Amino acid sequence: MYTESQYEEFEKRMVEAYPKMFAEPYGGFAVGPGWWPILETLCGQIQHHIDWKNKKTMIVPQVNVAQIKEKFGGLRFYYDGGDEYISGLVSMAESWAACSCETCGTPGERREGGWIRTLCDTHETERQSTIKERFEDKDLQKSILEVMQGEAE
Ligand SMILES: [Zn+2]
Repeated sequence: MYTESQYEEFEKRMVEAYPKMFAEPYGGFAVGPGWWPILETLCGQIQHHIDWKNKKTMIVPQVNVAQIKEKFGGLRFYYDGGDEYISGLVSMAESWAACSCETCGTPGERREGGWIRTLCDTHETERQSTIKERFEDKDLQKSILEVMQGEAE
Protein backbone atom coordinates (compact mmCIF):
# COMPACT_ATOMS: atom_id res chain seq x y z
CA MET A 1 0.00 0.00 0.00
CA TYR A 2 0.98 3.63 -0.16
CA THR A 3 0.48 6.64 2.04
CA GLU A 4 -1.37 9.80 1.24
CA SER A 5 1.88 11.77 1.25
CA GLN A 6 3.45 9.37 -1.29
CA TYR A 7 0.45 9.97 -3.53
CA GLU A 8 0.63 13.73 -3.07
CA GLU A 9 4.33 13.68 -3.87
CA PHE A 10 3.72 11.72 -7.05
CA GLU A 11 0.87 13.96 -8.17
CA LYS A 12 2.87 17.11 -7.45
CA ARG A 13 5.83 15.77 -9.43
CA MET A 14 3.62 14.94 -12.42
CA VAL A 15 1.74 18.24 -12.45
CA GLU A 16 4.98 20.20 -12.13
CA ALA A 17 6.73 18.20 -14.85
CA TYR A 18 3.79 18.32 -17.28
CA PRO A 19 1.79 21.46 -16.44
CA LYS A 20 0.26 21.72 -19.92
CA MET A 21 -1.14 18.18 -19.74
CA PHE A 22 -2.71 18.72 -16.32
CA ALA A 23 -4.02 22.25 -16.87
CA GLU A 24 -7.67 21.10 -16.83
CA PRO A 25 -9.45 19.26 -13.98
CA TYR A 26 -8.73 15.54 -14.37
CA GLY A 27 -9.78 13.98 -11.07
CA GLY A 28 -6.38 12.76 -9.85
CA PHE A 29 -4.51 9.53 -10.50
CA ALA A 30 -7.14 6.99 -9.55
CA VAL A 31 -4.87 3.94 -9.94
CA GLY A 32 -2.51 1.99 -7.69
CA PRO A 33 1.20 2.86 -7.32
CA GLY A 34 2.28 -0.12 -9.46
CA TRP A 35 1.05 1.81 -12.47
CA TRP A 36 2.53 5.18 -11.55
CA PRO A 37 5.84 4.55 -13.40
CA ILE A 38 3.84 3.64 -16.52
CA LEU A 39 1.96 6.95 -16.31
CA GLU A 40 5.15 8.87 -15.69
CA THR A 41 6.77 7.32 -18.77
CA LEU A 42 3.64 7.84 -20.86
CA CYS A 43 3.30 11.52 -19.98
CA GLY A 44 7.00 12.09 -20.58
CA GLN A 45 6.80 10.51 -24.03
CA ILE A 46 3.64 12.43 -24.94
CA GLN A 47 4.97 15.86 -23.96
CA HIS A 48 8.31 15.17 -25.62
CA HIS A 49 6.58 14.26 -28.88
CA ILE A 50 4.37 17.38 -28.77
CA ASP A 51 7.26 19.74 -28.01
CA TRP A 52 9.41 18.23 -30.73
CA LYS A 53 6.67 18.27 -33.41
CA ASN A 54 5.64 21.83 -32.54
CA LYS A 55 9.15 23.31 -32.57
CA LYS A 56 8.48 25.62 -35.53
CA THR A 57 4.72 25.60 -35.94
CA MET A 58 1.87 24.13 -33.99
CA ILE A 59 1.18 20.77 -35.64
CA VAL A 60 0.02 18.53 -32.81
CA PRO A 61 -2.71 19.81 -30.47
CA GLN A 62 -1.60 19.87 -26.81
CA VAL A 63 -2.81 16.84 -24.87
CA ASN A 64 -5.10 17.62 -21.94
CA VAL A 65 -5.63 14.76 -19.53
CA ALA A 66 -9.36 14.30 -18.84
CA GLN A 67 -9.36 11.24 -16.55
CA ILE A 68 -7.05 8.46 -15.39
CA LYS A 69 -8.66 5.40 -13.82
CA GLU A 70 -8.81 1.66 -13.50
CA LYS A 71 -11.70 -0.15 -15.14
CA PHE A 72 -12.21 -3.92 -15.32
CA GLY A 73 -8.62 -4.40 -14.19
CA GLY A 74 -7.25 -2.19 -16.97
CA LEU A 75 -5.74 1.28 -17.13
CA ARG A 76 -7.91 3.92 -18.80
CA PHE A 77 -6.25 7.14 -19.92
CA TYR A 78 -8.74 9.66 -21.30
CA TYR A 79 -7.49 12.84 -22.94
CA ASP A 80 -8.11 15.51 -25.56
CA GLY A 81 -5.72 16.57 -28.31
CA GLY A 82 -2.73 14.62 -29.58
CA ASP A 83 -2.25 12.71 -32.81
CA GLU A 84 -2.05 9.10 -34.01
CA TYR A 85 1.41 8.63 -32.54
CA ILE A 86 0.12 9.67 -29.11
CA SER A 87 -2.88 7.39 -29.42
CA GLY A 88 -0.36 4.57 -30.05
CA LEU A 89 1.60 5.54 -26.94
CA VAL A 90 -1.57 5.41 -24.86
CA SER A 91 -2.47 1.95 -26.25
CA MET A 92 1.02 0.77 -25.38
CA ALA A 93 0.74 2.09 -21.81
CA GLU A 94 -2.67 0.46 -21.34
CA SER A 95 -1.32 -2.88 -22.65
CA TRP A 96 1.67 -2.55 -20.35
CA ALA A 97 -0.58 -1.92 -17.33
CA ALA A 98 -2.71 -4.94 -18.29
CA CYS A 99 0.23 -7.21 -17.44
CA SER A 100 1.64 -5.25 -14.46
CA CYS A 101 0.51 -5.56 -10.85
CA GLU A 102 -1.41 -2.40 -9.97
CA THR A 103 -0.05 -2.57 -6.44
CA CYS A 104 3.67 -3.14 -6.98
CA GLY A 105 4.35 -3.03 -10.75
CA THR A 106 5.88 -6.51 -11.11
CA PRO A 107 4.47 -8.83 -13.82
CA GLY A 108 0.82 -9.51 -13.08
CA GLU A 109 -2.34 -10.74 -14.70
CA ARG A 110 -6.06 -10.12 -14.71
CA ARG A 111 -7.76 -11.63 -11.66
CA GLU A 112 -11.47 -12.34 -11.66
CA GLY A 113 -13.67 -12.64 -8.60
CA GLY A 114 -15.43 -9.62 -7.20
CA TRP A 115 -13.62 -6.51 -8.27
CA ILE A 116 -11.51 -7.42 -11.32
CA ARG A 117 -7.91 -6.37 -10.76
CA THR A 118 -4.53 -6.83 -12.41
CA LEU A 119 -2.18 -8.21 -9.75
CA CYS A 120 0.95 -10.30 -9.23
CA ASP A 121 0.72 -13.65 -7.38
CA THR A 122 1.72 -12.12 -4.04
CA HIS A 123 -0.86 -9.34 -4.10
CA GLU A 124 -3.56 -11.64 -5.44
CA THR A 125 -2.96 -14.02 -2.49
CA GLU A 126 -3.08 -11.05 -0.14
CA ARG A 127 -6.34 -9.85 -1.68
CA GLN A 128 -7.91 -13.30 -1.47
CA SER A 129 -7.10 -13.61 2.24
CA THR A 130 -8.59 -10.16 2.88
CA ILE A 131 -11.77 -11.17 1.04
CA LYS A 132 -11.86 -14.40 3.06
CA GLU A 133 -11.39 -12.52 6.35
CA ARG A 134 -14.17 -10.13 5.50
CA PHE A 135 -16.43 -12.99 4.52
CA GLU A 136 -15.78 -14.73 7.80
CA ASP A 137 -16.32 -11.58 9.81
CA LYS A 138 -19.82 -12.16 11.19
CA ASP A 139 -20.16 -8.68 12.64
CA LEU A 140 -19.31 -7.14 9.30
CA GLN A 141 -21.78 -9.42 7.51
CA LYS A 142 -24.44 -8.40 9.98
CA SER A 143 -23.79 -4.70 9.48
CA ILE A 144 -23.76 -5.10 5.68
CA LEU A 145 -27.11 -6.87 5.90
CA GLU A 146 -28.49 -4.11 8.10
CA VAL A 147 -27.35 -1.45 5.63
CA MET A 148 -28.87 -3.38 2.73
CA GLN A 149 -32.15 -3.82 4.59
CA GLY A 150 -32.11 -0.17 5.53
CA GLU A 151 -31.72 0.79 1.87
CA ALA A 152 -34.52 -1.55 0.82
CA GLU A 153 -36.98 0.02 3.21
ZN1 LIG B 1 2.16 -7.03 -6.72
